[in-house]
Amino acid sequence: MTVNSRIFRLSFHLLFTLALTCANRLPAAQPVMYVRLLGTAGPSLGYGQAEAGMLVVAGPEVLLFDCGHGVPDRLFQLNRISVSKVFLSHLHSDHTEGLAELWMNWDACYSRGTTPLSVWGPGRDVDQPAGTADLTSHLASAWATDTHIRRDLVEHLPGSAIQIQTTEIQNEGVVYQSNGVTVSAFLVDHGPVKPAFGYRIDYQGHSVVFSGDTRPSDNLVQHAKGVDLLVHEVIVTDPSGNSSGNPIVAYHTSPEQAAGIFTQVAPRLAVYTHIVGSPLGLAARTRAAGYSGPLEVGQDLSLFEIGDSIAILHCPPSLAAVTNSSYQNKISAGDTVIAWGSGFTVGGNRLIFTPASGSGQSVVLGETDGLYFWDQSTGQINAALPPSVIAGQWYVQVQNDCIVPTGSQLVTVN
Ligand SMILES: [Zn+2]
Ligand SMILES: [Zn+2]
Repeated sequence: MTVNSRIFRLSFHLLFTLALTCANRLPAAQPVMYVRLLGTAGPSLGYGQAEAGMLVVAGPEVLLFDCGHGVPDRLFQLNRISVSKVFLSHLHSDHTEGLAELWMNWDACYSRGTTPLSVWGPGRDVDQPAGTADLTSHLASAWATDTHIRRDLVEHLPGSAIQIQTTEIQNEGVVYQSNGVTVSAFLVDHGPVKPAFGYRIDYQGHSVVFSGDTRPSDNLVQHAKGVDLLVHEVIVTDPSGNSSGNPIVAYHTSPEQAAGIFTQVAPRLAVYTHIVGSPLGLAARTRAAGYSGPLEVGQDLSLFEIGDSIAILHCPPSLAAVTNSSYQNKISAGDTVIAWGSGFTVGGNRLIFTPASGSGQSVVLGETDGLYFWDQSTGQINAALPPSVIAGQWYVQVQNDCIVPTGSQLVTVN
């Protein structure tokens, strides 16, 4: 099949689908909250997934929940390493290993300016040797030489930028309020890991619950009832039940148990994260166990835009075709370029044109180049061809707010 015939078939389908959907489309309401899964693995090293980490953006507030291995890298991939507020669910290493990097890594530290890193987390239980304040104060001790050099000798960083301010959470309830955002902690049941908290984030009538690590928890159900987004951990147990002797399984949640939790909570969208084991078959097991509501198996960098509806965007987005307004992959000066795909970020994309010859500069068309953009959706970008994209063959890619762009599509410019 030629490129043209493939694009024609694709366009035929898309054209009529879009014509039907666009004809009656009202301007979409702006999302109110954004939730980005930074890591979706449990304890892991070298599997390409980051450990626990979830970013919530609500108004001016940028809040990180857990900071496992790889989470600061994910923030860097998003050009968003300026995070100064971290909420820890519990003190297992897969939820805390990234904290030192987030605090002291050169880029992260500089991006905070003069703002200290603020950390909320569980206090020390009588049966445990340490709480969150012990963790952070010992981090400060461990990096004291580095801190001394950067603050006092060479870089002269402001002292406040390399401070950690710690708030230990002893009881359930509101732990943070600012700019209309409320963060509440509630107890979950993570076996011997005590205390272990889940978090609920409320903003402008919308809400997100983050389970942390827990076995099925009635308290979580009570705090999460009717929430917009329920982000819940899971351990992929042996379907035959042979893993029941594993002591770790006993303080996590199986897909079948999660189905029961999701059914009771009835969120607008249930999302799996902290997936211990393979995600393959996870959704099917959850369905087979009786949950029939909206469900998503989280991936690193999955974005959830919460408002009147909940949009799910994966990173990187995918690009299926690039055409002109007649759905051909030949584009002339003055034509509209249409990129077809999925996972685009409305208002936040860039089109990247790279000469197929391998010589010459790429042309990047971004959202700030308003002259050239006039319509976008999560599956379609319409833009005027910039004059600097001269006649020849060009590879086109789409980049949203991930550093990783889509694969490329070849187009001919006349
Ligand atoms: Zn964990
Ligand atoms: Zn844990």
